[in-house]
Amino acid sequence: MNVDLLPIINNQNEKVSFEGVLDFQYDDAKIKAEVNGYVINFAGSLEVYGTVCAKITAPCARCLEDTNSTIDVEIKETVGKDEVELDGTVLNIDDIVFGNVLINMPSRFLCSEDCLGLCSKCGSNLNINQCQCEPDDIIDERFLKPKYPKKK
Ligand SMILES: [Zn+2]
Ligand SMILES: [Zn+2]
Repeated sequence: MNVDLLPIINNQNEKVSFEGVLDFQYDDAKIKAEVNGYVINFAGSLEVYGTVCAKITAPCARCLEDTNSTIDVEIKETVGKDEVELDGTVLNIDDIVFGNVLINMPSRFLCSEDCLGLCSKCGSNLNINQCQCEPDDIIDERFLKPKYPKKK
């Protein structure tokens, strides 16, 4: 999302506001970020203030079903005037928004705290289908024999 700072770049204490929706993808997570805020020329530096409501669709860490969650993020960043002037007077705020959402993202998503996950043998979703697989800790006796029997 581009914000044209022409009205404020040389005018202290003036603001330009912005509003919109940005879509991101990060690993398996899809993020739709509703952003609104403003950029203010404060004593010659450009400050970006905003709020982001990010709707995140990501697979459950245990069963891989999609989960939906929402996080609210506050933005407060200072941008060097020289960085903006390299591109004229337009500031692209996508990286600022994305960076602020990422540091506030949960490190993993669960469809529910007590999600049972997938069976490690048959791959059944154990929340839906209780399969009849034996637990992993039953040892197959064949593996207890030495791999290379000693020669007599
Ligand atoms: Zn799950
Ligand atoms: Zn199973």
